[in-house]
Amino acid sequence: MRIFKFGGASVKNGDGVKNLISVLRHEGINNKIIIISAMGKMTNAFEEIVHSYCKKDKDLIDKIAFVRDYHLKITNDLFDDNSHSIYMKVEQKFAQLSGFMSKNKSKDYNFIYDQIVSYGELLSTTIISSYINEIGVENDWIDVREYIKTDANYRDAKVNWETTQKNISSKIDTSKLTITQGFIASDGENTTTLGREGSDFSAAIFAYCLNAQSVTIWKDVKGVLNADPRVFEKTELLTQISYREAIEMAFYGASVIHPKTLKPLENKLIPLHVRSFIDVKNEGTTVQKGKDLEPKIPCFILKKNQILLSISALDFSFMVEHNIRDIFNFLHDYKLKVNLIQNSALSFSVCIEDQFNNFNTFYDSIKSKYKVSFNENTTLYTIRHFDENSVTEIEKNNNVLLKQISKETLQVVVL
Ligand code: ADP
Ligand code: ASP
Ligand code: MG
Repeated sequence: MRIFKFGGASVKNGDGVKNLISVLRHEGINNKIIIISAMGKMTNAFEEIVHSYCKKDKDLIDKIAFVRDYHLKITNDLFDDNSHSIYMKVEQKFAQLSGFMSKNKSKDYNFIYDQIVSYGELLSTTIISSYINEIGVENDWIDVREYIKTDANYRDAKVNWETTQKNISSKIDTSKLTITQGFIASDGENTTTLGREGSDFSAAIFAYCLNAQSVTIWKDVKGVLNADPRVFEKTELLTQISYREAIEMAFYGASVIHPKTLKPLENKLIPLHVRSFIDVKNEGTTVQKGKDLEPKIPCFILKKNQILLSISALDFSFMVEHNIRDIFNFLHDYKLKVNLIQNSALSFSVCIEDQFNNFNTFYDSIKSKYKVSFNENTTLYTIRHFDENSVTEIEKNNNVLLKQISKETLQVVVL
């Protein structure tokens, strides 16, 4: 039994959905669980809806219309019959969404976010499952919220493995073709989400609970490359990566695999394949136990929108253990993600990511205790297995603010 995950890029239009069927036909229809993300960039579009809803902006109606039209266009491209029941199912989802918006009394942004943004995955799987049925391929659509259970930490929910394991192993017929949503889950009462790009993690959860043979993530690239092809001109395919190496890469921000995906797979030694949905004959990348990296070449990972903070004591005393503990408490309280730290006698530098828009309030509270200066919009480059050339390449084109080197990893923060 194998788990497939199709991301937004693979189902961004009708042709993408048709291609998904070709991939399935090529690989075999049965004994599969297919995890699907929201179509195209729909999660971003739903985030816009949340924003306008919470701010009571007038453009809310237009934003909902944009998302509705997008899904109806794909539905139209897939179904010839305008009176097909799928149209009613799609409209029902939008009616439920409006129902939530008018009844909701909560002011909790993260709670609202999960209730709204989850419609991306609910819509995509509903349309795709219906289409697969329509062309004569039987499949079960399941609501993943009845299987993956989490705590109520909205937008970054933690999985309750025990309940999830029980649900998944007892309720799914693995001999069939099952279609379900990535990214979303439930705390028992409400919808939760597992963090942006979390569908890879959903696939790993199913694989772990069902002892799957493997997980395949279908992408618009050949596999995992040694750098982001949108940023670097020359890239090479990595054919083999060990779990450890892949965890390091994902941790440093290689967005091609979600960081939480790898640990459950490593625990059960389930291989992860990253393959091209355009070029199904190629093997792509396999993450499994074995050689660190094949070929062993420098790998570049880039994280944009970083804030580089330099923190020192107001009285110019040394930055010692208790200050550092105190600073980390601040960072934790404001959910700021730390990507790099460096300390000297008088200052403590930290490169952070403000995923939840808390930086301003964090800054207001920390500046009463410390002297803080910062650079916004910096980029963090991480080079695994760096060599002389790769370092020169980054340094010649950028204004380096901070540099840190360990045996296998070089990191630079640039402006
Ligand atoms: P999905 O639709 O599965 O969510 P994404 O669009 O999030 O896929 O990720 C695929 C994209 O990730 C690729 O098109 C590529 O531009 C980018 N990418 C960034 N880093 C890498 C890398 N190291 N290897 C391959 N692709 C990468
Ligand atoms: N649709 C979600 C996102 O865009 C989850 C995913 O694609 O993995 O973040
Ligand atoms: Mg993605």
